[in-house]
Amino acid sequence: MTNENPVAIVTGASSGIGRAVATRLAADGTTVVAAARRADRLAELAASAPAGRIEPCELDVTDHAAVRAAVDDVVARHGRIDLLVANAGVMPLSRLDAGLVEEWDRMIDVNVRGLLHGIDAVLPHFTRAGSGHVVTVASVGAYAVSPTAAVYCGTKFAAWAITEGLRQESPPGIRVTTVSPGVVTSELAEGISDPLAQEAMATYRAHAIGPEAIADAVAYAVSQPAEVDVNEIVVRPVRQR
Ligand code: NDP
Repeated sequence: MTNENPVAIVTGASSGIGRAVATRLAADGTTVVAAARRADRLAELAASAPAGRIEPCELDVTDHAAVRAAVDDVVARHGRIDLLVANAGVMPLSRLDAGLVEEWDRMIDVNVRGLLHGIDAVLPHFTRAGSGHVVTVASVGAYAVSPTAAVYCGTKFAAWAITEGLRQESPPGIRVTTVSPGVVTSELAEGISDPLAQEAMATYRAHAIGPEAIADAVAYAVSQPAEVDVNEIVVRPVRQR
């Protein structure tokens, strides 16, 4: 980020990619508000960073009012918000004929509505400041669909489209990046309840890379000069086809 003492909010920071991103940004000098639902994980993350560098924020991104309040609180306390990393996501894969409608709804709520809630919360502050950066963590599933992933990929196509639309609509000074990971070590696949999808995942996820690879990509995008807007980055294991 181009400002001194930047402040970021990272959603889904209690595990996996979000945790790695929060840790990396904090190490690079950003004050990070680490948001997720599991407060115990966030407290442990905050304790692992230099004092005050990572602030825990218990937050459910599906709650629009709560997301707005969290971002407004950051601005009230720090006088600024420079970066949203919209990373929170869930991936309970299944075929459509399994009929797991509640799981489809949850993916839409977290992966799409959660992203929109974050954008809505930061945009007024970014517009007022004339600067700011939204990084959306989408997926290689934003570019291609595969069996058992129709709804998940649908949410990631949506995340890509929403982020690209934000880029086109944003006033000058606001930067927008979609980072799309391939298979990364995390807790994401633990949310799969469907036995067929679980089995397929064991093979698919065999060559996962560490979440630090995605944190590196985010760090690259946010550290560019103010006039440089890195719009899309895809990072996958070299063995993933
Ligand atoms: P994890 O399951 O390890 O992390 C997901 C994070 O999202 C957790 O911190 C979880 O925190 C948070 N989260 C889930 N629901 C909510 C909610 N309602 N409100 C707030 N936070 C929530 O998986 P990853 O790190 O892998 O996932 C991060 C992102 O990366 C996701 O968007 C995912 O789709 C994407 N991605 C991951 C890939 C991979 O292979 N790992 C590949 C491509 C994309 P908590 O439960 O505490 O709320």
